[in-house]
Amino acid sequence: MPTPAHPAPGHPGGHVVVVGNGQAGMQLIDSLRAGGYAGAITVFGEEPHAPYQRPPLSKDYLAAGADPEPLPLRAARFFLEHDVDARHGVAVTAVDRHARTVAAADGTTLRYTTLVLATGARNRPLAVPGSGLAGIHGLRTLDDAERVHAHLGRAANVVVIGAGFIGLEFAAAAAARGANVTVLEYGPRPLGRAVSATMSGHIAAAHVRDGIDLRLGDGIAAFVGTDGHVTAAVAGSGAEYPADLVMVGVGVLPRTELALAAGLEVDNGIVVDGALRTSDPNIFALGDCANFPQPRLGARARLESVQNATDQARHAAAAILGETGEYDELPWFWSHQGTLKLQIAGLSQPGDGTVLRGDPATGKFSVFCFRDGRLAAVESVNAPADHMAARRALAAGRTLDPDQAADPTFDFKAWSRDPAPAAV
Ligand SMILES: Cc1cc2nc3c(=O)[nH]c(=O)nc-3n(C[C@H](O)[C@H](O)[C@H](O)COP(=O)(O)OP(=O)(O)OC[C@H]3O[C@@H](n4cnc5c(N)ncnc54)[C@H](O)[C@@H]3O)c2cc1C
Repeated sequence: MPTPAHPAPGHPGGHVVVVGNGQAGMQLIDSLRAGGYAGAITVFGEEPHAPYQRPPLSKDYLAAGADPEPLPLRAARFFLEHDVDARHGVAVTAVDRHARTVAAADGTTLRYTTLVLATGARNRPLAVPGSGLAGIHGLRTLDDAERVHAHLGRAANVVVIGAGFIGLEFAAAAAARGANVTVLEYGPRPLGRAVSATMSGHIAAAHVRDGIDLRLGDGIAAFVGTDGHVTAAVAGSGAEYPADLVMVGVGVLPRTELALAAGLEVDNGIVVDGALRTSDPNIFALGDCANFPQPRLGARARLESVQNATDQARHAAAAILGETGEYDELPWFWSHQGTLKLQIAGLSQPGDGTVLRGDPATGKFSVFCFRDGRLAAVESVNAPADHMAARRALAAGRTLDPDQAADPTFDFKAWSRDPAPAAV
């Protein structure tokens, strides 16, 4: 058991142990120190790398001649400067809530006063015949991206399973590298769970224009191969698509195994309250692994985004430092798919009314989503000013008239900056 280096304010002998050195874990540490936490901090990360950013892995990192070095989440000197005991390449294997200890794969056991589970997510496995063939990849970690990057330049035919964010980003990157790309999507539209049907339709059209063969309503049934390597993907319809490389992007599963084994409440993620505390008040969970009350939806949600991970980390750090309050940050997201720079503010829902602002033919437009007569989300393509204005408006709880949203002469940006609410 370590002797904590510094007594924490309000926590004599405080020791925050963070499991996961990704986006959420690193921000939590940063915010704790910035907020004046003087206790000991230890962070575990099971990947054998210094913390790095995941978003570029399905975008710029895949381009021909891209820098093979990942973008770091923090500079190497961060740990020394912030007096953090960083254990890269070491997994936490168990949590003993009674003793308040964690056991790690390197044989150490550490005592915590506060434990933070920032364990992220893992790719959802695909259980169809032939899934084990070589040449079938997922994309979550730097090691995944390195493997895919090495093979992408040699792949003539690429099949992508799933038209979610990762699948479409990868499809655009593979097409830019000159591959013939087919995307198989079981559902009726791409990004079906993430954007409005209006935006989904425009995104589908853009990818088809860029030469991607987008097969909707046809899922994967099996893979076939020769000498242990994939040669084709067979769709549910029976259609067969030649493949030298397959990317599986069928969603993720929250990493809840530690929480489950420790007896914490788990339900599509580690269940937390508005302060991001789990069913054990000494343990927080945040980022991709956390199922939290989302006041803007009036329901629980688990979100997978950099914004969610970093804002939750700031909130949890404040809670550890003694602040009270419910987490209620506006969700926002971005995705770069070839020339499409998609930005989303708020969360759209099936059944939202939509209004188009701008002309999709120009490649620059936004879809405004209204629920119960109020602005609920804005999805923008190559329209960053609309996105920023939407974030300001939604964060402030302001709404506008659908006619205003659709009117190209209405100055949405100026309106969003106006401190006086125009319409409520
Ligand atoms: C390829 C890709 C592209 C993306 N693009 C975008 C984008 O464009 N925009 C956007 O907003 N979001 C994007 N995301 C999502 C975003 O990266 C995640 O939402 C974010 O990283 C979540 O942060 P996190 O800290 O919760 O999890 P992670 O960043 O995944 O970090 C969790 C870490 O915990 C470690 N861990 C888990 N269990 C243990 C254990 N027992 N012991 C030790 N370590 C453990 C994991 O190995 C992992 O490194 C993308 C994700 C991927 C994979």
